[in-house]
Amino acid sequence: MVATSHFFNMIFPSGLRYVQDPGRKGIEVVRGSRPCYHVERGGTPRGREGESMTYDCLVAGGGPAGTTVAAALARAGMKVLVLERSRYPRSKPCGGGVARKAAALFDFPWQETIQDTAYRVDFHFGPDRHIAVASREPVAYLLMREDLDWLLARRARELGAEVREGSPVTGVRVTPEAVEVEAEGTVFRGTFLACADGVGSFTAHRTGLYGRRRPGVTYAAELAATPAQTARFAGTMLVDAGACPGGYGWIFPKRNQLSVGVGSFHRRTDVRGALARFLAGHGLEGTPVRYAAGHLLPADGHLRRPVAGDRVLLLGDAATLVDPLSGEGIYYAVKSAQLAAHALLTGREPGAVAALYQQMVDEEIRGELVVAGRLARLFYAFPSPLFALAENHREIAVKLVETVYGGSDYLSVGWGKASVRRLWRRLAASPREEEGSA
Ligand SMILES: Cc1cc2nc3c(=O)[nH]c(=O)nc-3n(C[C@H](O)[C@H](O)[C@H](O)COP(=O)(O)OP(=O)(O)OC[C@H]3O[C@@H](n4cnc5c(N)ncnc54)[C@H](O)[C@@H]3O)c2cc1C
Repeated sequence: MVATSHFFNMIFPSGLRYVQDPGRKGIEVVRGSRPCYHVERGGTPRGREGESMTYDCLVAGGGPAGTTVAAALARAGMKVLVLERSRYPRSKPCGGGVARKAAALFDFPWQETIQDTAYRVDFHFGPDRHIAVASREPVAYLLMREDLDWLLARRARELGAEVREGSPVTGVRVTPEAVEVEAEGTVFRGTFLACADGVGSFTAHRTGLYGRRRPGVTYAAELAATPAQTARFAGTMLVDAGACPGGYGWIFPKRNQLSVGVGSFHRRTDVRGALARFLAGHGLEGTPVRYAAGHLLPADGHLRRPVAGDRVLLLGDAATLVDPLSGEGIYYAVKSAQLAAHALLTGREPGAVAALYQQMVDEEIRGELVVAGRLARLFYAFPSPLFALAENHREIAVKLVETVYGGSDYLSVGWGKASVRRLWRRLAASPREEEGSA
């Protein structure tokens, strides 16, 4: 039974009628006899099937990239809508290692999500060979992605962004005047679209910006470890370069569990089998598994490519902005979102926004990933000889920690072209072992 809201119809005389539905919380807005909005107490109007809603920026995907750009734009007064396929808190296959340089980008209290802090990295080549690098400062903060991503989404909401959960984007159309995005049968109009829908990016495909990509493969799990097992790894990130060809295995401790996984930039690697062997090698076979999943990972972050078109910007994994050496991507997701927000808030018209964002990504992110890519080719071509070299020259391991997790970029720590070339010549002259033969 629907009752008319006389109060609203009195103060908003228009083609729209405001009615109250006693069966539902809030107010229905009706045009003719057709419901077009539902307004919840304290909420914003929601479109109904067939209606189109207009925003300054639409954001596809509510991971760190999507919610960061949404928060920044909403804080500046823009009308923003995030369309997220899942519902929070949602899990995401991830080691949950937030590098110190990524943490430095968060300008709000997020520390409640931290479950452990790593002051040490144990580089392994198989269970027996290892180099430990201890740091006075935190190397990385270890957390569960469902906690971080949910916090980021709540913050975007608090700052005024509308975040719709359970809303997969199913259609995109770019016109000279606007971007139209379809989700749950509703068409939303935006002046811009930020594509932050992750590695397979449906929206990058639909806007013609996906191009050719060759993602890497990962298999990750959450282990219900005993207190003794978590204590054994506490405060340490274990990284094993012998776990599989073209990649590595990791053990990152959390409060009551261990996040473990194997990732490879070689697509054909059997990462699931490699994870079982890796866990057995580190004494974790038979530990109960809470969650396990395979996932793709952008592998060609070092290749320069368009990340912007008219009215459309690609962010984070959707733009392949992941370190091709380590697979770290949270830093680049947040960084690219901040650059996108800057471009959207300062660019005068769509072409200028796209050009500014492309330029900033090339200068502030891609240049660094090009160096990381050079190193990745070296590391994954000669994993064992390189490990042997680092056993004798520990500064190599320190440099790695500093660049992958710490506050420095690849160039400032001295991974320039010439030094990588010198290393390459030296390693090429050494006897080459079977890759990944831990
Ligand atoms: C196994 C594994 C371990 C990793 N470990 C680390 C680590 O320890 N540290 C680190 O820094 N990085 C790590 N990464 C990389 C990191 O997870 C990503 O780089 C980061 O999540 C990128 O953030 P994003 O916001 O761009 O994308 P995502 O976090 O992937 O977010 C994309 C969002 O879009 C949503 N979505 C997808 N399709 C649609 C659609 N059609 N409509 C609406 N929504 C959609 C998804 O549900 C998701 O919420 C790891 C990656 C993997 C696979």
